[in-house]
Amino acid sequence: MSQQAPVQTLLACSQCGRDFPHSDLVQLAGNWVCADCKPAFISRVMASGAAGASPMGWHYGGFWIRFGARLIDGFLLAIV
Ligand SMILES: [Zn+2]
Repeated sequence: MSQQAPVQTLLACSQCGRDFPHSDLVQLAGNWVCADCKPAFISRVMASGAAGASPMGWHYGGFWIRFGARLIDGFLLAIV
């Protein structure tokens, strides 16, 4: 009972794959990321989140608005 070394769980960084003590890693978007990879990971998540969600919605909305406008145009022309 002499050796009571502090046992730290080593976790692998999901980005660089190196092992780090639990306390040196942060969990971001469900992935363990070390301090070195954190800025790159955050910017990547931000970029994918921002670029993935809103412009798609915009595009979709724009498509239907244009489609509706065309339809109305077609109706007006047909009536005339
Ligand atoms: Zn890393």
